[in-house]
Amino acid sequence: MSHDMKDEKDKRSIVYTIEECQKCGVKNKRIFKVGDYVYKFGGSCLRCNGSTLITMIYAEYVNGT
Ligand SMILES: [Zn+2]
Repeated sequence: MSHDMKDEKDKRSIVYTIEECQKCGVKNKRIFKVGDYVYKFGGSCLRCNGSTLITMIYAEYVNGT
């Protein structure tokens, strides 16, 4: 079976990672990076410097104009 990419030319998706601080609960949305997975430890919280945990990874579809 062949997968034809031509049909996908007008659909673009951006994958986002949501990091949630375990201390103050603040959520940070950033672009997904290879190696990210849910419940992986993220970076330091921008607000309180506590440890963050990845709680969600999802794709948003962007309409190309
Ligand atoms: Zn925090």
